[in-house]
Amino acid sequence: MKHAHTFPTVTGPLATAAAYADTYRSRKTQLHPTANCDTLRAAFGGDLPAKGQPGEQVIADLIRAAEPGLVGNTQPGFFAWVMGSSHTTGVAADWLTSIWGQNAGIYQCSPAAATAEEVACDWVLDILDLPRSASVGITTGATMAGFIGLAAARGEVLRRAGHDLAEDGLQGAPHITVFISDDTHVSNLAALRYLGFGSRNIKRVPSDDQGRLSITDLAGQMAQVRGPKIMIATAGHINSGAFDDFHALADLATQHGAWLHIDAAFGLWARASVSTRTLTNGIERADSWSTDGHKWLQIPFDSGFAIVRNKDAHRRAMDISASYLSEGPNDGRTATHYNPELSRRARGFAVWATLKALGRHGISDMVRNHCDCASLLAYKLKGTPGIRLHNNVVLNQLVLSFDRGRGGDDTDRMTQACLLYTSPSPRDKRQSR
Ligand SMILES: *Cc1c(COP(=O)(O)O)cnc(C)c1O
Repeated sequence: MKHAHTFPTVTGPLATAAAYADTYRSRKTQLHPTANCDTLRAAFGGDLPAKGQPGEQVIADLIRAAEPGLVGNTQPGFFAWVMGSSHTTGVAADWLTSIWGQNAGIYQCSPAAATAEEVACDWVLDILDLPRSASVGITTGATMAGFIGLAAARGEVLRRAGHDLAEDGLQGAPHITVFISDDTHVSNLAALRYLGFGSRNIKRVPSDDQGRLSITDLAGQMAQVRGPKIMIATAGHINSGAFDDFHALADLATQHGAWLHIDAAFGLWARASVSTRTLTNGIERADSWSTDGHKWLQIPFDSGFAIVRNKDAHRRAMDISASYLSEGPNDGRTATHYNPELSRRARGFAVWATLKALGRHGISDMVRNHCDCASLLAYKLKGTPGIRLHNNVVLNQLVLSFDRGRGGDDTDRMTQACLLYTSPSPRDKRQSR
């Protein structure tokens, strides 16, 4: 659809947003939402206006309505969950991405988007030191990256068993068994469900107190199962930051002809720094890796990477082709080979810009600094009466609980009270029914 529009340079919605963005980034903003759900509904609510309103006004209204309900995860004092903080250069590139409004599905829709993405993917492989011949899809996040890696896995283990998924589909296919830790990130179970795996097809492997899957148990379970196998391991456990033993896993994968996928949503970036790289030893032997750009790398949201060693398996799992989606002999990257979407945001611009703004040293320093901070905090807090440390601090995570030495309920209450971010916030609790 053609739509005549101009973007004002001095006034207009973009100027309103840009002026606000500068102040938002530079001032210390709230960590907790101050409004509850009712207040926010009232602020955003009302009937859809019959007549369109001026853009500047709408953006000012948006800011007013949203601000009390924002969470300060781009602020330095924020420690909850695993989230990035939207690197400013990435944000600027993200704005341009929307302004340019490119459709990054195929090369001919946007040669610039395709090329930025191609280069950004090469840089990602380079900094993560994964096989340079692997293919990369830039996704909405690690959940979809996992979905893609596991889709490639499913097709390839079936193909090796003599079953063509594209021709014959899943029905009547050889039974695939998936091996995964009993403490895996839930997104992996979701991805498996999208791909047609139910709990009877998934063998849960016992894990230790840091969330690392037990190699002995896994070896025992794999020895009992015939047919195609997929293994899923973790680099950077969501709570403890722990890493599985990738050499042992890769050995088992080789022995059983299994596909090894690594959920490395943030942990893969440990590879970018010499100080933490050894945690990932052997990870390069896997078949596929899923990781996020919008967590540790600080790219604005909607950024993940599906990395697959076997380009053909990746492409067979994702390819979208049609005669109207023409590809020329001199075209560059075609993103639809590596992603489930056809029309898609030109996610490569923000990746390219953030990587360039941080540089190899910036990424490695950031990873090292974050891990050093966690170690220092653990060191300082260790032995403090009333504070208990629950994980081996190997990465940037620290799991603490607080009590006055009385244990039990007191621990839970004190820990709750010490949380920097709780939802609902104390004020909401008073207001809610
Ligand atoms: C966050 C996370 C995911 C899911 O990633 P999204 O970007 O939220 O889709 C998967 N695995 C681990 C270990 C994570 O931390």
